[in-house]
Amino acid sequence: MKVVKDIKSIRKLIKQYKMQGKSIGFVPTMGALHEGHLSLIRKARRENDIVIASIFVNPLQFGLNEDLEKYPRPINKDKKLLEKEKVAVLFLPTNEIMYPHILYTYVDIDKLKDCMCGLSRPTHFIGVLTVVAKLFNIITPDKVYFGQKDYQQAMIIKKMILDLNFPIKINICPIVREKSGLALSSRNMYLNEKEKLEALALYNALNLGKEISFKNKNAKFIATKMKNYILKNYKNIKIDYLNVRNADTLEKIKHILPKKTLLCGAIYVGKTRLIDNIII
Ligand code: AMP
Repeated sequence: MKVVKDIKSIRKLIKQYKMQGKSIGFVPTMGALHEGHLSLIRKARRENDIVIASIFVNPLQFGLNEDLEKYPRPINKDKKLLEKEKVAVLFLPTNEIMYPHILYTYVDIDKLKDCMCGLSRPTHFIGVLTVVAKLFNIITPDKVYFGQKDYQQAMIIKKMILDLNFPIKINICPIVREKSGLALSSRNMYLNEKEKLEALALYNALNLGKEISFKNKNAKFIATKMKNYILKNYKNIKIDYLNVRNADTLEKIKHILPKKTLLCGAIYVGKTRLIDNIII
């Protein structure tokens, strides 16, 4: 695996791949890799000649009091995992490479960011879109791979690709979970065993919502039941949001839409903020 840290070198390498007629699949990450990330890489391997992964903990997408400093960065372990998955190139830029001077230009999105995670993280998606647009322009991939785990992020990137005419096909891949059902996340590293059990509150609540939806199609009723389940059973969990939404538009809905209802939420386990969702 080639590890490339600067933009000029990776552009040169990509030009060579393209001259050889090779297709490029790209998996952007912030590292601290787990099976969720690796599932994206495996799909990219199946569908492309060359897989490029990036690891960059993007400061622009962290709010002031968030976990930028303590975000896990086990880079040697990550490199080994990527080698094993036969990733051709790891793009590993520094902050100075990605943001060499003050930014005048940001990518923002209308509507889709003013709900769900966007409410408690108001600048997050501008940071995500800006860095993803930069990465797309640097890597110029044919296909990109994102996880359903970050549902709102995936939908927003899908819209950016469409609106800004990036010639890229986006794949949104299923959530990989622990046996317990807990969605894999780099932030699970912050949790001890007891907290990991408590973190299941979210997935359990979403499943409860799903179960209720078979009998009762009222979205408000389902959302209330999910919230009450956590409030009653998990004293140490703080709910950020638990919503029932249209999976295509992210709008709140009144009644369950067959096959395109998104049950989604974010909770705090101690200081750790976790998200999850299911589509019913
Ligand atoms: P991150 O490193 O957290 O920025 O995630 C990089 C990519 O991996 C994003 O597209 C995430 O949605 C995806 N991802 C993270 N966790 C999971 C998971 N448990 N299952 C599938 N994809 C995931």
